[in-house]
Amino acid sequence: MELSKILNIPARRLENLSYPATLLLEWYRQNQREMPWRKTETFTPTPYQVWVSEIMLQQTRVEAVRGYYTRFIQQLPDIAALASAPEDQLLKLWQGLGYYNRVRNMQKAAQQVMELYGGALPADYKALQALPGIGAYTAGAIASIAFGIPVPAPDGNVFRVLTRLLGSGASLGDAKVKKALGEVAASMIPPQAPGDFNQALMELGAIVCLPNGAPLCPSCPWKDLCVANRENSWQTIPNLPEKKPRRVEEHTILLLASEGKLLLSRRPAKGLLAGLPEPINLAGFWEKASLSAYVEQLGGKASRLDCLGEATHIFSHVEWRMKGFAAVSPFFEPPPGCFWAGAVQLEDEVSIPSAFRPFFEKVNSLLQQSFA
Ligand code: SF4
Repeated sequence: MELSKILNIPARRLENLSYPATLLLEWYRQNQREMPWRKTETFTPTPYQVWVSEIMLQQTRVEAVRGYYTRFIQQLPDIAALASAPEDQLLKLWQGLGYYNRVRNMQKAAQQVMELYGGALPADYKALQALPGIGAYTAGAIASIAFGIPVPAPDGNVFRVLTRLLGSGASLGDAKVKKALGEVAASMIPPQAPGDFNQALMELGAIVCLPNGAPLCPSCPWKDLCVANRENSWQTIPNLPEKKPRRVEEHTILLLASEGKLLLSRRPAKGLLAGLPEPINLAGFWEKASLSAYVEQLGGKASRLDCLGEATHIFSHVEWRMKGFAAVSPFFEPPPGCFWAGAVQLEDEVSIPSAFRPFFEKVNSLLQQSFA
């Protein structure tokens, strides 16, 4: 089917798209934000650096990524270092970014790159997509930015700016529509600057054609061409599929300390926060008396039990509503699957998921008390 029919727009809107592409590139060269992974006159990122930044930027804001990126590249400067890093180091470097499978997949991909390509990412769009954790978007970003290959990198930002430019109200819940927009993006790529063009589309979507709230049309290089601006239809474009409501779960979190250490266990190898360490995490809201009984079942004795308040953590499909408690106990052998972690381990080695962080603010004073 013709692209214009899939996108539900007149065919003429798909003509002469090299003009908006030129305007966008000019705008990008004057307005792009400085980022540690972006090319400058004196710095060209390696394909590995482009890859790390693109994976970190998925579901995470640029400002939050800067520090993580710099630390990651300092400690793991190349693919060989990533391939052989201990998992605890990886998870620690990722702590707070969430979606930990991203970094686990990066390591699997790095190991394959060592085996298959001698440690250098392949300059090939399809071969990149065959690596774990690298989908069409990331492969497009690496291929175009690092290797100058003219392929698109269509993500949510790109879909938003293109549907608005073209005035397409076709549903983004339809895979055909996304594919068509990828083809539109591909047709716009200037052969001499595929990486800059793809980054420019993303940048426009991030800082001008905003995802939440009104787009900043007066600052947009497309303000005179854009159908959504002309027709004031940005509120209905893009046409996004309705999100399923998140499942709400109640949890009781208990920080149990003994002799300066905290009792932790590992989450199951599959599913939410797979394989990550966590404090005692019980389904439902528990009362103090039942928590004391639970500690006794583990082999300890809660000599004090304080409320730490409540917190909520939102994952993509689940929302955890948590009540936190802290207790100290005389030392006991940790039950199977559990282990004790001291202050230094908690600081340097163990990556506690950010969902539990609200209850960790005073963990050091709890560890101190547990010596008494
Ligand atoms: S003119 Fe406005 S709606 Fe159109 S692409 Fe630019 S910021 Fe988005």
